[in-house]
Amino acid sequence: MFDDKIEFGKLFGIPIVLDYGLILLAVVFGYSYFTSGNLATISYGLLLFVGVVISILLHEFGHALAGAYYGVRASHIELHGLGGLCHFTRALPPERTTNIVVLLAGPAVTLILWLVFKGLSMMAYELPANAGFVTGVSRIGNLMSHLSIINFYLLIFNLLPAHPLDGGRSLAHFISKWAGYDRAMRFVAYTGTLVTAWLVWEGLQGNTFLLLIALFLFMSNLSVLDTHGGPRWRREG
Ligand SMILES: [Zn+2]
Repeated sequence: MFDDKIEFGKLFGIPIVLDYGLILLAVVFGYSYFTSGNLATISYGLLLFVGVVISILLHEFGHALAGAYYGVRASHIELHGLGGLCHFTRALPPERTTNIVVLLAGPAVTLILWLVFKGLSMMAYELPANAGFVTGVSRIGNLMSHLSIINFYLLIFNLLPAHPLDGGRSLAHFISKWAGYDRAMRFVAYTGTLVTAWLVWEGLQGNTFLLLIALFLFMSNLSVLDTHGGPRWRREG
């Protein structure tokens, strides 16, 4: 059913499908940990990776849960190298609010995760220093604070006004009230192109992963322009 992907198992009855790009994510983010030669650092890297995967999974379950609320079941959740995707068994009802709620349910979970991990890290740091397992406590605190920062960045990234991100897609639904669906989709494709340019600028300072994301966003926003009429000069010419 899912060729070139690994079916990992089911969670709450929803199949979880892993794309090989997830291995790329592990390599990019885990490289410095996994090659450190230090067992504590390697296990920290592994726990961090597991924490990020669980965070992305819960984000997708946010979408799935909101969809179920409107009577549309998730067919499967896909985890790939740039995050995740919640697939539904059928199209969501066309109502604007329905789509916006389902789209923003993911970032809402990420917001909660950011705060929960932040709280857990503060609790770990506040344990008495003479507890006897102080290194373990501070390491757990570091891990929790690391995961809270990652969820913060995931939240900001997901809300950027670009296709196919939750922020961009919900913005398109929102302004389609006045602009019509095609024009709203094109508007977000243009703001998405600006986001791409910004990510390229940031990526050129030495972050290859950002350049990869920029390429992915550029292709997505370009294809939206193609399927939703494109710029005026291209439509009429
Ligand atoms: Zn999402």
